[in-house]
Amino acid sequence: MIDAQTKMQFLYALRSKGVTDARVLTAMEVVDRAAFVKGIFADRAYEDMPLPISCGQTISQPSVVGIMTQALDVQPRHKVLEVGTGSGYQAAILAQLARRVYTVDRYRRLVKEAQTIFDAQKISNITAFTADGSHGLQEQAPFDRILLTAAAEDPPGPLLAQLRLGGIMVLPVGQSDAVQSLIRVTRTDNGFEYEELRHVRFVPLLEGIGQD
Ligand code: SAH
Repeated sequence: MIDAQTKMQFLYALRSKGVTDARVLTAMEVVDRAAFVKGIFADRAYEDMPLPISCGQTISQPSVVGIMTQALDVQPRHKVLEVGTGSGYQAAILAQLARRVYTVDRYRRLVKEAQTIFDAQKISNITAFTADGSHGLQEQAPFDRILLTAAAEDPPGPLLAQLRLGGIMVLPVGQSDAVQSLIRVTRTDNGFEYEELRHVRFVPLLEGIGQD
C-alpha cells in the first residue's frame, strides 16, 4: 500500500491536469494502480505516465484515464463496455462508478492477468473477455456508456449501434502513428453528436485476436 503523501500528490497532479469530477477522483483514490503494474515499474505507479505491461501494450497515463472517465459521465446504474482491457486499471476505475463493466481485449493473456487482479482486489462487477472489441459485445448490448482505449480510424459502426439512446461513447480517433483526437459521441433522437476533447496518443485498435 502506498503512503498518504504519495496519494495526495497523485490526486493533486490529476486535478492540475483537469480531472476535477469528485466521483472520478474518489475512484482513482480507491483503486491501487500499483496492483495493475508489474515488476520494476510498480514503483512508478503513482507517477503520471504510461507504463509497459504484457504483450507489448501499455497502461495509460493516469491523467488520461481520469479525463476519459470524466468525459464518459458514468452513473451508478450504468452498464459500461470498455474495449482494450490492457492491465485492467481503467476497468477497475469504471467498476467503482458503474453497476457493471464488460471489458474485452484481443490478448488472452492480458484478460487472464487482469482477471487475476480483479479477483485479488475483490472487484466483482467486471466481466472480462478475449474478443475483437471492434465488433462490440452484441449479446450484452445496448450499453449506457462505451469507452475505447485503443485508437480507431473512425468510430466503429457496431459500437455506435450498441450504444443506448442518450448513451455516450468516448474514444481516441486517428492514425496510429500520429496525434489522435479524443472524441465524445452522444447518441440522440436525431442521430450522433460528435465533440472533440483533446489530443491523445494510444496504441491502435487492431483486428482479430492476438497470438498471446
Ligand atoms: N485500458 C488499458 C490500457 C489499454 S492499451 C488499461 O487501463 O491498462 C490498449 C489495449 O487495447 C491493448 O491491451 C490492446 O491489446 C487492446 N486492443 C487493441 N485492439 C483491440 C481490439 N480490436 N479489441 C480488443 N482489444 C484491443
